[in-house]
Parts: sequence; structure tokens; C-alpha cells
Amino acid sequence: MKVKQIKIDKKNKIPVYLFGTEPKILLMAGVHGDEKTGVVILKKIIKQLQNSKKSYPVAIIPCVNMRAYRDSSRINPKDKIDFNRIFPVIKIKSESYQIGKAIQDFAEKFTMVIDIHVFTGQHTLMCGVDLNISKGKIQKNIKDIMSQIGMEAICRIDHASEPKKDGSLCAYLQHKKVLAFGIELPPSEVLTKNNFDTIKNNLIDLIKGFQKRTKMQKLKSYIRLPVLSEYTGFFSPNKIPGLEVKKYDTIGNITEKNQQKHNINSPFNGRLISVSYKKSVKNGDKLFVIGKKVKG
Ligand SMILES: [Zn+2]
Repeated sequence: MKVKQIKIDKKNKIPVYLFGTEPKILLMAGVHGDEKTGVVILKKIIKQLQNSKKSYPVAIIPCVNMRAYRDSSRINPKDKIDFNRIFPVIKIKSESYQIGKAIQDFAEKFTMVIDIHVFTGQHTLMCGVDLNISKGKIQKNIKDIMSQIGMEAICRIDHASEPKKDGSLCAYLQHKKVLAFGIELPPSEVLTKNNFDTIKNNLIDLIKGFQKRTKMQKLKSYIRLPVLSEYTGFFSPNKIPGLEVKKYDTIGNITEKNQQKHNINSPFNGRLISVSYKKSVKNGDKLFVIGKKVKG
């Protein structure tokens, strides 16, 4: 194993762990600093591979956005930028753009890029993110890899309902014909040991070029819709992610300060993708995400 530094400026460098001379696969995490799961998984993979004498075609960046990570902040605390909304980086306007340009130039040389994210504050299925850009073979290959590494569902971004999701690194890379996609995992405090090991071992198998012996299941795709709170109070969920729910099914309830209780219901038939922890919420906070099944 070799450690290379991507130089950002005089003070800032991003470590990249290389396990072979011509890496084809890039794994990265920590794009959003409050999303720790991927960082922990990638560090574990580095630890497991580093003593091997064999070489593997992989480069790993366990933490892309280190300033945000140190601050446990989604955005870079220095320039207040959400790193995953600035691609392609053309003009350097602040530190995030500087990092973005360096990562963009580095990542576009790979054939496959997996960017690990987290549904913060939510119990969730492990989801592959379908950016709804690529068609045909690239799209099919991406879905196969998502299944191979143990994702439980595919969430398709609906550009009409989630226009703020544009400008991601993976979107840029897909335009460059890279098999690039994000995955969303549960936060580390609720990720089960079993799921941690599954994803870690599946990523290692992918790196080592193993094909799954068992027939891969075809993952179902969903258009996801976040349901936000209309109240300020204490949210208690009564359903768990993965369940099929019907329109008007109660997903949980909110008790306001004056003890008034409101049932929170599903807006349509679908599958529950993620549900907020039991916690205090305010108006506008995300309570759960419901997925509407799509064909293909
Ligand atoms: Zn993220």
C-alpha cells in the first residue's frame, strides 16, 4: 500500500490510499462531514488490505472533506458550501471549489467510483442512488454493482421534486462515462454490525474482482419523497424502513408541547425507505422518506 497526497494548497492535502499501480476503482466517503459511516468502513477496509502483499486496482479516499468532517458539519464551515452541489467545478471561488477541482480531476480517470453517504438522523435501508442521468449499459452496470455490494433498494432522484440534488460529483462523472454512483447508509450509531460487515466484505470482494456466486437479486427502484414535519414537538415512529405501506397508514406521531398528538400518515402507497429516530422535531424537519415504485 502507498499513501499519496492530493495537494489542495500549502496547508491542505487529502490522503489517498493506493493498493496497486493502476487503480480502476475509487472508493470515497466524507463528502459531507456529518456522515461518518463511510469513513469508518473505508478505514476498516484499508486496515484489512494494507498487510496484503498482493496489489488491487483500488484507490481509497476515506475522507474527502476534512474540515467539514472535523466539525461534524454537512457543509464546509469555512465557506458554508455543500461540497456535493458544485460540480462540475469550473471557477475556484473558495476552499470547497479548490478541493472539488482537485477531486474532480483525480476521480475522472477511474472506471468506477463509489461515493458513500449517510441518511443522517434516520433509520434507513441501504440505498443506491440512481441519479437518473445515464441510460443503457452504464445504468445497468451501476445497478448490478449496487446489488453486488448489498444495497437493499435503489432510490431514483426525481429532478422535478428534488432539483437541489443537482451538481453532485457522481453526476459529473457519469457525464464523463464513469460508472460513478453514491450509496446512502444508516448513520454509524444505528448501523448494525451485520450490515457493517456485509457492506465492508462486499466492497472488498468487488476490489478483489470476485463475482457473486449466488444469483444477484434485481433491486427495486423507487422515486423517493421526503415527508417533512408540519409541527414542532416529539416524534415517535411506529414503523421501520423496508415496510410496504398504504396511503394514510400511520408512520408515527408527534406530540406537541401542549400534549396535542398528531398522527403522521403516508401520503401514498409505497415502501418506507427511511424513518427519523425518536426525537424532538421542528416544523420542516424530515420525518420519513417514502418510495414510490418505478419500473426498470
Ligand atoms: Zn451526503
